[in-house]
Amino acid sequence: MDPRALTFEAPAKGTGPETAIGLYVHIPFCETKCPYCDFNTYAGIEPLIPEYVLALRKELRIWGSLLGRPTVGTVFLGGGTPSYLPAEALESVVGTMRDAFELLPDAEVTMEANPDDCSPAKLADARGAGLNRISIGVQSLDDRLLKSLGRRHDAAQAVSAARTARSAGFKNVNLDLMFGLPDQSLAHWEDSLAGVMELAPDHVSLYALTLEPNTPLAAWVKAGKVADPDPDLAADMYEHAEDVMASAGFRHYEISNWARPGFESRHNLVYWTNGPYLGVGPGAHSHLRATRFANLKSPREYIRRMREIALTPILSRRERGDFLPAQTWGIGSHDPVERNEEGDFLLSPTSEIAPSRAPSPGGRGGRGGGDVADPALRQAQGASPARTFLSPTWESNEERGVTPPATAFMAQAGIVESAERVSPAQEMSETMMMGLRLDTGISARAFQARFGRTLDEAFGDIIAGLVDLELLARDPSGIRLTRRGRLLGNEVFSRFVGVPGAA
Ligand code: SF4
Repeated sequence: MDPRALTFEAPAKGTGPETAIGLYVHIPFCETKCPYCDFNTYAGIEPLIPEYVLALRKELRIWGSLLGRPTVGTVFLGGGTPSYLPAEALESVVGTMRDAFELLPDAEVTMEANPDDCSPAKLADARGAGLNRISIGVQSLDDRLLKSLGRRHDAAQAVSAARTARSAGFKNVNLDLMFGLPDQSLAHWEDSLAGVMELAPDHVSLYALTLEPNTPLAAWVKAGKVADPDPDLAADMYEHAEDVMASAGFRHYEISNWARPGFESRHNLVYWTNGPYLGVGPGAHSHLRATRFANLKSPREYIRRMREIALTPILSRRERGDFLPAQTWGIGSHDPVERNEEGDFLLSPTSEIAPSRAPSPGGRGGRGGGDVADPALRQAQGASPARTFLSPTWESNEERGVTPPATAFMAQAGIVESAERVSPAQEMSETMMMGLRLDTGISARAFQARFGRTLDEAFGDIIAGLVDLELLARDPSGIRLTRRGRLLGNEVFSRFVGVPGAA
């Protein structure tokens, strides 16, 4: 891992949505593994659920503490199958999240659900726990296609799940459908889409099947056991969907997503606007203050390492007093340590990394440098049994004169496994690639305010070329994909990868 990736400031603390981050919570359990799925999810590891929930709650508490209880505007419980968790487990995860983070009163809190989990009791409990948006994986309303996708539910269960969500009080319901499936005709697709629209969802996500390498479905297609999906037919299905959704009054606000006005996914908008988010759980990705980082992928190893954090003296009252200067973590003079109900030592939820104490990344000789150079700490690093745990990143940071903050802490614990600093040029490219997915495209004014350069200064030639190809449209307010550009989105996005002009 590049040690330069291990520093970032705590997110600005505030109460408004402008300072809020998104929070992704990964649930890696599925009752069965669908043959097309390459997500970091597993079937047959249910015995891990109780310990996993403890580990996840611990990670939430630690991040809440390390980041100074940041404001959270959106939460997404994804996976995996969050609805597969017992209701009390869901409740405890959401409860811990509320303790550890400052959840905005109107926060969007989404749970992904499989139709076969959507009993009235389960969804009533989910509502009771504070979840206010549900995303149901319908995928198709054709039983034969559902079976060939390896789904556990049938069409009747999918219909029932959408209705149960309404009766349970969900006022924001998303339904997922897939198209471009092997042996799926245009008529099949039209029927599924019509059936979904009869359920009056607030939001619809339509995804073309992708044959992911190393999945059973890709192998079956390669071996000729399953028909290769026809991309031209998939394009026809997409165009049909555009017409159906438009006539139903849905806004096609992102390439794969349609919403009734006001029901756009606020959590996904954080991603598409290249905003800040924290991901917890194995394999979860985060993007905070010009740093992208990802957790280790194995749920079993994740649990083991989280358990070790509880055992490590870094968080214990006695050992912290021995070698960890309070100001290193910005935790001030009050006692930051408490025991939770599992008996672990944790940083107090009220303790903070004060941004003002953090040095600027790479800055030598700042106050942070002073922290690391603290003789008591050096001495302790030499003497502490936690030396192995602490030393690699601490030493590399010490060389650079910066205080290792939250990411470094989690990297030392083996939870954050990869991280990279995002350069301003990369951030510009990524903002273009993500933002062009939206119907609103890239606002010329917002781009300039964020990067201090105009769109033309950063990407003038590329934009002009794409406008000539009728893949982009532009007006004084900004640029956006044309209808043709939406069909060829990847072609457009690839033009913005590693653009020297953005450097
Ligand atoms: S239920 Fe969803 S996450 Fe789980 S295996 Fe199937 S597609 Fe993947």
